[in-house]
Amino acid sequence: MEQCIFCKMVNNEIPVHKIYESENVIAFNDINPQAPVHCLIIPKKHIVSADFLKEEDSHILIEVFKAIKTIAKERNLSENGYRIVTNHGERAGQSVFHLHFHLLGGRNMKWPPG
Ligand code: 5GP
Ligand code: ZN
Repeated sequence: MEQCIFCKMVNNEIPVHKIYESENVIAFNDINPQAPVHCLIIPKKHIVSADFLKEEDSHILIEVFKAIKTIAKERNLSENGYRIVTNHGERAGQSVFHLHFHLLGGRNMKWPPG
């Protein structure tokens, strides 16, 4: 059994306020928010990063994007825009090695990202 920090949240071994839950996905607020809205959407299954996704995981991704759309609507982000980010590997800034999608919104975003 995987014992990464996000797996522990999925398994309720570490308390986390879930803002969304479906069969294969949970979402919660980032502990160190980089925008007025900064949530993390994660699969319950331990997948290291987007680079480790397999064809059989496609149903999880559909749920991830359903969660994003639902949360964005709840937080009034749909109209003005939001950003979805996922980092693969240390050079991209990945610090937790369990696939997660950052949902950022509530402020203007710069491009390109740093
Ligand atoms: P990464 O750098 O891997 O793309 O993103 C990891 C994210 O997880 C960071 O934004 C970080 O603030 C967040 N994070 C790390 N540990 C915790 C935690 O214990 N609780 C919550 N809510 N977020 C965390
Ligand atoms: Zn994990």
